[in-house]
Amino acid sequence: MTSLSPLLKQATPVVVDHASGCWIHGQDGRDYLDFTTGIGVTSTGHCHPRVVEAAREQVGKIIHAQYTTVMHQPLLDLTERLGQVLPEGLDSVFYANSGSEAVESAVRLARMATGRPNIVVFQGGFHGRTVAAATLTTAGTRFAAGFSPLMGGVHMAPFPYAYRYGWDVDTAIDFALRELDHLFATRTSPADTAAFLIEPVLGDGGYLPTPPRFLQGLRERADEHGILLVLDEVQAGCGRTGRFWGHQHADVAPDILLTAKGIASGFPISAMAASEALMSRGWPGSQGGTYGGNAVAAAAGCATLDVIRDEGLVDNARVRGDQLRAGLDALAADVDAIGDVRGLGLMQGIEFTTADGRPDAATALAVQQGTTAHGLLTLTCGPLGNVVRVMPALVVSEEEIELGLQRFRATVEEVVPG
Ligand code: PMP
Repeated sequence: MTSLSPLLKQATPVVVDHASGCWIHGQDGRDYLDFTTGIGVTSTGHCHPRVVEAAREQVGKIIHAQYTTVMHQPLLDLTERLGQVLPEGLDSVFYANSGSEAVESAVRLARMATGRPNIVVFQGGFHGRTVAAATLTTAGTRFAAGFSPLMGGVHMAPFPYAYRYGWDVDTAIDFALRELDHLFATRTSPADTAAFLIEPVLGDGGYLPTPPRFLQGLRERADEHGILLVLDEVQAGCGRTGRFWGHQHADVAPDILLTAKGIASGFPISAMAASEALMSRGWPGSQGGTYGGNAVAAAAGCATLDVIRDEGLVDNARVRGDQLRAGLDALAADVDAIGDVRGLGLMQGIEFTTADGRPDAATALAVQQGTTAHGLLTLTCGPLGNVVRVMPALVVSEEEIELGLQRFRATVEEVVPG
């Protein structure tokens, strides 16, 4: 009998039968409140009727046109629709399939456009699993261990992870900016640096919002030295944080913005946006791919953007995110094992620590696995695996957040009895 490769590790034992909105109906006959959304993908909930209808209709027209051979209308429409939400000046869009591919596209463009070799990433960032993306990923050695040599030209600077350092946020930001300047003096000169690559909220690295003043510090240095600021919005984008883009909390303009996941409610499509002037500094025809910008995925993307707009989902993410956060903060006040709660909107992380303040991965894992038994799906994250993350769909209701909080509290109280 053939079986699935053990290279895949599944966070829950659930096998889905069907799903709708915030609910997954398992083959075991149980209903699970899904606070994982396929790792932040099903932004409009599972199988939103308008997304389903758009995809169904497109399947009957053309499934695959191959965008370097034949152009198709859904991709032109998606480009126009994205133009309504992209930051000003990012008026040119390139499409691929996955977040990793979008990240690689940005590296390729940044190197070509600047003629410089090096990329600076920030400790704890997650950017994907292909060789280049894994090289850029510092959210845990497990993503790159065992298959070196990796790509050259990648240098890591500290991220202002205040809780881990045991400092206040300003001290952590000052430290991280100072160390970045020191990296320029010791490892990669600004003249050799093509780009900074960072997430507005570290995702797999621990659900850590990037402090606005840190992003502003990167922008200043980018402007001073002609370095490109690449924002990886693959997980934090498309309304999840309560603003359409995660970086809008910081009022900082990217040179290149990467999006995927939430943009098409589950269909695989990713995009890299930049100014036309920057895009034209890459070599024409240097990027492409067989499946990039697939017609069905693009149609689902248009429907997703319409649903986000028409149902006011960015506002809902903010309001429901506040509710979620308030409930988690209240829980943390009652439970010593929760050291930190943080996040933006519907992207919240709960960091577990031992009585003497050390990271506690065993408790985080027990909580994450325990929520499944209580009918709530959650995930862990962080380099040490001691953070539980929740990321409900943007359509989540007040009652569903309340129910999720109740189930989460019941699990935590079971795992770490008062
Ligand atoms: N960037 C970020 C911020 C991500 O969260 C992810 C996926 N978790 C990726 C890139 C990689 O995306 P993919 O798995 O689609 O290659």
